[in-house]
Amino acid sequence: MSDQRPFRRARILCTIGPTSRDPDILDRMIAAGMDGVRINFSHSSHQEAADTVRLTRAAAVRAGRPLAVLADLQGPKLRVGDLPEALHIEKGSEYLLVAESDAATVAEAEPGTRVIPTSWKTIGEDLHKGDPVLLDDGGLAFEVVEVVDGQARLLAANDGLLTSHKGMNLPGTVIAAPSLTPKDKIDLERALEMGADFIALSFVRQARDMQELRELAGERALLIAKIEKGQALDHLGEIIRIADGVMVARGDLGVELAFEEVPIVQKRVLRLTREMAKLGITATQMLESMISSPRPTRAEVSDVANALVDGTDVVMLSAETAIGAYPVESVSTMDRVIRRVERERQLGDPVMDPHRTVLSQVHHTVAGAIAGAAAEATTRLGAPFVVTLTRSGYTAWVMSAQRLRVPILAVTDEEHTCNQMALAWGVIPLLVPGGLGYDEMVAAAQRYALEAGLGHPGDPFVVTAGVPFHVPGTTNYMRIETLAEADA
Ligand code: ATP
Ligand code: MG
Ligand code: MG
Repeated sequence: MSDQRPFRRARILCTIGPTSRDPDILDRMIAAGMDGVRINFSHSSHQEAADTVRLTRAAAVRAGRPLAVLADLQGPKLRVGDLPEALHIEKGSEYLLVAESDAATVAEAEPGTRVIPTSWKTIGEDLHKGDPVLLDDGGLAFEVVEVVDGQARLLAANDGLLTSHKGMNLPGTVIAAPSLTPKDKIDLERALEMGADFIALSFVRQARDMQELRELAGERALLIAKIEKGQALDHLGEIIRIADGVMVARGDLGVELAFEEVPIVQKRVLRLTREMAKLGITATQMLESMISSPRPTRAEVSDVANALVDGTDVVMLSAETAIGAYPVESVSTMDRVIRRVERERQLGDPVMDPHRTVLSQVHHTVAGAIAGAAAEATTRLGAPFVVTLTRSGYTAWVMSAQRLRVPILAVTDEEHTCNQMALAWGVIPLLVPGGLGYDEMVAAAQRYALEAGLGHPGDPFVVTAGVPFHVPGTTNYMRIETLAEADA
């Protein structure tokens, strides 16, 4: 049944697109180590998204293991509108940034004016003289010279070619656009109907943005805040508190902030996320060269390894698996790098130190105290695994944050929880039929442990659970058991 190689703790999330929306490729990506799929609603139609979910669920059944589905909402991404033809941008020349609805009128009234149309409607309120405006991932830089009548005159700082629909970043500018756009609200409902396990929101700026998503999504999915705005860094603690996890979205982050800030922000966000026992995802350009090459650059390999040392739970692939030529090789590259880092015991070991995660309040709750005690007992006894019985998955997430070297067998009768835990660091999710009692759930974990060669009869192991069983979110129980013979 299971993979007999040593257990891998960090998780691999893959963006699905034209090159991977295929049963055979998905099977091969799962065999190579994919733990979850990401669907980017900026680029996928609802039909494509539904197909991806259906194909993923079918592939998970074939593989006999759970896979997480993450739906990524585009948020208030500002974009250039339709340009009749590509616009040559010349350094020192001026351009007029105009709401799309007015672009044609302006161009007609003032022939010769070089107009950049945009979907953004509140230019006049949001922009001020001196503000920077960056187009196309920062490739084209402008400065606002003047704002009149809801239009902004921009001075180009470099030469280049501008085409339709390029992204626009306004570092430092506070825009009035709501965090969840009308499109996001529709995408959210569709994603939940499709059974997404996680919902990620782009360009989160403040806690209120995540709060709004929480109010709409409720407990129907776990929620991920994408950190890619400088503004979010001023409210990081509150944002993470409301979210179930964060994504360090390095692409836009490196345009919104100076690029040299990215590694610092990554470390800061990942540390705080783990202290709060939430899920941390590191994303964008991790193996970028593998879009067109079967082998990664050495710098990319180092980047992945360093994200793991920074404490990320999940490493993500973007264009590499969505449109790249080597989706399967990209996954096996991630798998190789993770296994090597996790084998290493000589590093300063911030990844595995169980005593690091004692700072946040979570660790001083009953669930946190039980998880800490279970980790301590496991280490002292040299137990080969931990068993966590969980309905919502909460106990397993707190256990995961202890960063034990041994696997956490998380037993649940909720399919949704099981799929979510596919992204939990150090967790092996096990789905059991509903209505089982303590003994039967522990027996299921023991059977798995013996079959997977995780332990030998007579080995001690710790079980954590909430008693009574049917009350969610009550981890209050820990017991030390002994692994029985196979037919016990
Ligand atoms: P984000 O900022 O949310 O990461 P992105 O534009 O960088 O958005 P990714 O999801 O990171 O997009 O994917 C990288 C690239 O892969 C995209 O720019 C797009 O060209 C392509 N891509 C991703 N998903 C799809 C899809 N479903 N269909 C077509 N192309 C896709
Ligand atoms: Mg982004
Ligand atoms: Mg991206």
